[in-house]
Amino acid sequence: MKKLTMFLMIIFLVCGCSNNKSTESYINSEDEYVAINYPITNINVLDDAISSYVNRIYYNFKNMKSSNIPELNISYTYKEINENIINVSLQTEIITDKTINKIKTFTYNKTNDKFLTMEDLVQDLDGLDYEVKKELLEKYQDADMDYLSNVSYDYFTIDDENLTLYFNPAEIKSKHDELIYLDIPLDSLKLLIDIDKTEDNDIYLSIKKRNVSLDDKVVALTFDDGPSKYTNKILDVLKKYDACGTFFLIGNKVDFYGDVLKRMLLEGSEIGNHSYDHKLLTRLSKADFQKEISKTQDAIKKVTGFTPTLFRPTYGGYTNILKSYTDLKFVLWDVDSRDWQVKTKDKIIKNILPNVKSGSIILMHDNHEYSLNALEDVLKSLKNQGYKFVTVSELLELKKLRESE
Ligand code: ZN
Repeated sequence: MKKLTMFLMIIFLVCGCSNNKSTESYINSEDEYVAINYPITNINVLDDAISSYVNRIYYNFKNMKSSNIPELNISYTYKEINENIINVSLQTEIITDKTINKIKTFTYNKTNDKFLTMEDLVQDLDGLDYEVKKELLEKYQDADMDYLSNVSYDYFTIDDENLTLYFNPAEIKSKHDELIYLDIPLDSLKLLIDIDKTEDNDIYLSIKKRNVSLDDKVVALTFDDGPSKYTNKILDVLKKYDACGTFFLIGNKVDFYGDVLKRMLLEGSEIGNHSYDHKLLTRLSKADFQKEISKTQDAIKKVTGFTPTLFRPTYGGYTNILKSYTDLKFVLWDVDSRDWQVKTKDKIIKNILPNVKSGSIILMHDNHEYSLNALEDVLKSLKNQGYKFVTVSELLELKKLRESE
């Protein structure tokens, strides 16, 4: 199992949206597996509420006892319901000797600088309440009726079709340890606000192919844990050296960086799947593992039309059984920059250059400034040594052709 030390970063959105939304990521595996991803909206009140919630969860997590290496995953959804109203949900999963799932949502109205409640959203609250209790009892038959009378409507998300209400298991006294939720079709509700539906525009991008001959010296650069605020700059450097990369993306960050993803493909880089929440995969059930993969495939496809065929396991951890659960090809590496650990340009370069041979796959991360800083020298040197840069798919294809010769 690969050990990662902690890194902390703030990523600014690079797409052409009106305000600079970004995400914050914290991934650590020193003595715990922690993957925290949440959005930065640049609305102070909302950002403060989100970060203090995250800090509280992390603080509590640090104080939990566990006989296994404990794991914390926080991921998010972000939705602009309309021009003025933003909905953010934070899903938390804590794995110690047992698993705890929690959800927290924030809905913020920029016009009056207030958090939006269900009263602001739905006209007939009594009607909703009746419907919800009926459906909760149908869906979760062990729910306790007495508790149901105290159900709150604090946590909700909205998409184009449904208002989704979330309840913590304790709230309805259910024994389910997964999140409890109900989808209420928007058609069945009288809403007090307008909802902007997202337009589906079909985009179909594919990787630009390069001319590589069988006896070329080739190398594939790979970048994990993005996209981030550095990814565009990494693409700038790649372009300067006529190089490309294979970017293994974390699915829950994809939405904020649509333009960066499109640029990757347009400029001949490849996109791979690095799971949705960056959970430790070896602890997941088949269904949950497959969900991590498919949610990321969907997110990438929605933005680019491109469907990845490669997968890089989080923390480098996998089993043959996990591999059998997906058609995606697991891709590891033979040259490890250890950029997350050594944190300086010179050490990163030293970890890479002496170890590269034709056919190498180099592991870097596109969410650190020091990785970006090291990249130019790495590319310059490899280019001088006569290497051609290819995507992982091209490299695998080439290896196959060489073997069949
Ligand atoms: Zn990773």
